[in-house]
Amino acid sequence: MTLTIPFDNSYARLPNSFYARQAPIPVRAPRLVAFNAELAKILNVTPGDVEEMAEAFAGNTLPDGAEPIAQLYSGHQFGSYNPQLGDGRAVLLGETVGADGIRRDIQLKGSGPTPFSRRGDGRAWLGPVLREYVVSEAMHALGIPTTRALAAVETGEIVLREGPMPGAVLTRVAQSHLRVGTFQVFAGRGQLDSLRQLTDYAIARHYPDADGPMGLLRAVVEAQSRLIAAWMSVGFIHGVMNTDNCSIAGETIDYGPCAFMDSYHPNTVYSSIDRMGRYAYSNQPDIAVWNLAQLATALIQQMEDKDAAVEEATEIVHAMPALLQENWLKRFRAKIGLVTEEEGDLELITDLLTRMAQNQADFTNTFRALGGEAARDQFTDPTAFDTWSDGWAGRLAREQDPSAVMAGSNPAYIPRNHRVEQMIQAAVQGDYEPFHRLNSVLSRPYDDQSGADDLKRPPTDSEVVHATFCGT
Ligand code: AMP
Ligand code: MG
Repeated sequence: MTLTIPFDNSYARLPNSFYARQAPIPVRAPRLVAFNAELAKILNVTPGDVEEMAEAFAGNTLPDGAEPIAQLYSGHQFGSYNPQLGDGRAVLLGETVGADGIRRDIQLKGSGPTPFSRRGDGRAWLGPVLREYVVSEAMHALGIPTTRALAAVETGEIVLREGPMPGAVLTRVAQSHLRVGTFQVFAGRGQLDSLRQLTDYAIARHYPDADGPMGLLRAVVEAQSRLIAAWMSVGFIHGVMNTDNCSIAGETIDYGPCAFMDSYHPNTVYSSIDRMGRYAYSNQPDIAVWNLAQLATALIQQMEDKDAAVEEATEIVHAMPALLQENWLKRFRAKIGLVTEEEGDLELITDLLTRMAQNQADFTNTFRALGGEAARDQFTDPTAFDTWSDGWAGRLAREQDPSAVMAGSNPAYIPRNHRVEQMIQAAVQGDYEPFHRLNSVLSRPYDDQSGADDLKRPPTDSEVVHATFCGT
């Protein structure tokens, strides 16, 4: 069989100023370590034999129809504006329109230097590639919008990070790689024709019903509000919510030093590069609003009537916290079994979270156990749960089928950080069994699976991972 990707490229039809034409740089000895056949089907991609796919997903050969480009963007990194970023270690091969009618990008990440590499080597090492593969696929299985992973290859080359590491390339699939930073770069340079063209492109591709730039802003505000609420509901910490990592399509993108929380605390930070805790768990909604304010600022540049645009954009961005709160409440109501809405629900939920934080309760296991007997065991002082639970029982009595609602909202399995780290350690030694096992169990996160209890367990003291690294 021959690998066939039915490319139908649109971004490469945009003007040259949107990207640099850049082929992936071949690697020495590519070896296919993962291929996502289920995703390939959705993309209408026909798999080829293993050697052929290793060559293609390493960038050594270009599948017919590919038009590799490195995309231009800029962005705010930890609050300060960098006027030019761009794909420094990735190339977009092209797009396909899937069996579901959705257009998606197929991108190689770790495929070598581009004109946007700045001082970087354009490469990735195996650890972050496998982390992104596992965590993005787990996110998808949790029902949360995300980029996905089609393939991973080892390159047979060494990349230098904390030490010499095995190199790898991830094939990433996204509804697009348009970011807030893609708008910022043209706005920042005063290239208004490009900004208008990009706006039209984004509307046509993602929000065909949106009315002009302010309609686009409104749609992205809504999508990001849903997304961040979903992250919060599973204890996910993105780690690097820079504007260049904020997707216009509303997908989770750029899994760097991200992690799911074990024991609940709102101030949790994992990223080793986030020293100030800017992107701590509980800051994520505020940061999303800040990011969307940057999108608003960029979009406004193209408007004829600036005063009216500023007024409308301000109204849209100011409405975002309430929208986030609404989505958050919906998610957390479901987590405690509530479908109907009553006054006092917010207080009931925040009271539980406060007690969880005070009692080092495991986020995932506590919510999962709410439907059963063991929730109180998650608390260092179980009576802290009991006194909350009395009030909750009264509220639950007015619900139809709370157990089913909870079972579908509270996963049994998340990609726990210590398991991800153990998986990476094993893969570096050539043992891919933990990688495949994690993918398999995490593909059905809401189903209890026999023989997988170890993947529910929080880390022991010696297993705790205190920081996650970018791997750039
Ligand atoms: P990220 O932290 O992945 O969002 O990347 C931020 C910026 O740094 C983007 O422009 C990346 O393309 C660039 N970058 C990250 N790692 C590398 C690398 N190893 N080589 C070149 N550019 C990189
Ligand atoms: Mg990025």
